[in-house]
Amino acid sequence: MKDVEYIDSKELRKIQNDRFLNTFKRLSNVPFYKEKLTQNGIDSNTILSLNDIGRLPFIVKTDLTTCYPHGTIACPMSQIEKFHFTSGTKGIPVAIGYTHKDADAAAECFCRLMKSAGVTTNSVVQNSYGYGLFTGGLGVHEAACKIGATVIPVSVGNDDRQIKLLKDFEVDTLCATPSYTMHLAHKIINEKIRNIALKRCICGAEPWSENMKRAIEATLNIEAYDVYGITEFGACVGYNCQEREGLHICEDHFFIEIIDTITGENIYDESVGELVITSINKEANPLIRYRTGDLTHFILSPCKCGRTHRRIARIIGRVDDMLIVKGINIYPSQIENFVHATEELKSNDFEIVLTTVDYIDKLTLRIEANEQVVNNRLMKQRLENEFKQRFGIKADIDFVEKLCEGEILGKKKYVRDLRKI
Ligand code: ADP
Ligand code: ZN
Repeated sequence: MKDVEYIDSKELRKIQNDRFLNTFKRLSNVPFYKEKLTQNGIDSNTILSLNDIGRLPFIVKTDLTTCYPHGTIACPMSQIEKFHFTSGTKGIPVAIGYTHKDADAAAECFCRLMKSAGVTTNSVVQNSYGYGLFTGGLGVHEAACKIGATVIPVSVGNDDRQIKLLKDFEVDTLCATPSYTMHLAHKIINEKIRNIALKRCICGAEPWSENMKRAIEATLNIEAYDVYGITEFGACVGYNCQEREGLHICEDHFFIEIIDTITGENIYDESVGELVITSINKEANPLIRYRTGDLTHFILSPCKCGRTHRRIARIIGRVDDMLIVKGINIYPSQIENFVHATEELKSNDFEIVLTTVDYIDKLTLRIEANEQVVNNRLMKQRLENEFKQRFGIKADIDFVEKLCEGEILGKKKYVRDLRKI
């Protein structure tokens, strides 16, 4: 059989159609979907092909947090092999279940990227994504094992150890967020570290620009590959092939639409809109017409590599106010809750300032406070520790008497994003 990545487009559409109908049939018996269909006056018997998908309602993140923990599971619980989680909007995470087959399929998707990037059984892959609840860490690990490469599961942080491992184990493939890769690259150059055998990096989980990609490539003399992953669907929904121009969607697993964010109408040309994904080949936790909040556009020209799966442009940004700091998702409202939960700060103004230091995101939380608090170092330290524990990233907390003279910081605009990518 011809490799599915190069399959004829017509055949691919047929696979998509059959898989979608199977998925939809199963989902119509899940109470969450049953209720959604009833609320929207849709008779499931009238959904006869993928052409009817536009009549189905969108699913948004709050649907999934409301259903937490098991509300959208579409298979017996005994068949669930594992769960992965988002970092948690307003305290409630999204939990996504995988059967054994789902986990295997997710790894296979990531393998497509690894293979086109040149990863083989002889490769040594350093996985600098965080292990644990997030999809990325284990997702990459399982894919590298499936290819038969050697994995160094170092996880995030500790630059010196990262560089030592890169050197000692002659790592040829680094998987990390783009900002962390850039940060390590500069450390390697600045400290004149030699004997780095790196050939490629595979970066995702946060927005990065074409310029940043070129800078990483030039600094380390390697190839940089982009991968689009999202907890709701897996660590690799879309990936750079060897041409590294746009992301091929794994279309035998996902049906994608790009919609106008205001009208919800489909966009078929190369205009920018919100990416909507339907999983058509999942057993445990398929989602239909899920609004990702990510902005992108189709790339309609065929790719030189010959793959038939459609391409989208790198993710341009987000529709909502979700911040991605060091690859971790945080909403300003979560930070607001955090600040105002402290008695002395319960109605104080604050701002979140994001900057880039040594190619890595830095989050500074500036909070207006009275003189006593401004000089209270213990409280600063306590809040910094609590922040780290709660959100998984470090914040510098600065108490200031006045946020900024003359500047009006309305409640709704309390983020200053000064990062350079
Ligand atoms: P992950 O663990 O893969 O970061 P999350 O669900 O925590 O998954 O975050 C997913 C979000 O991260 C996406 O909705 C998107 O905004 C962002 N993201 C993931 N990959 C990329 C990428 N390659 N480029 C830009 N943004 C990305
Ligand atoms: Zn291609």
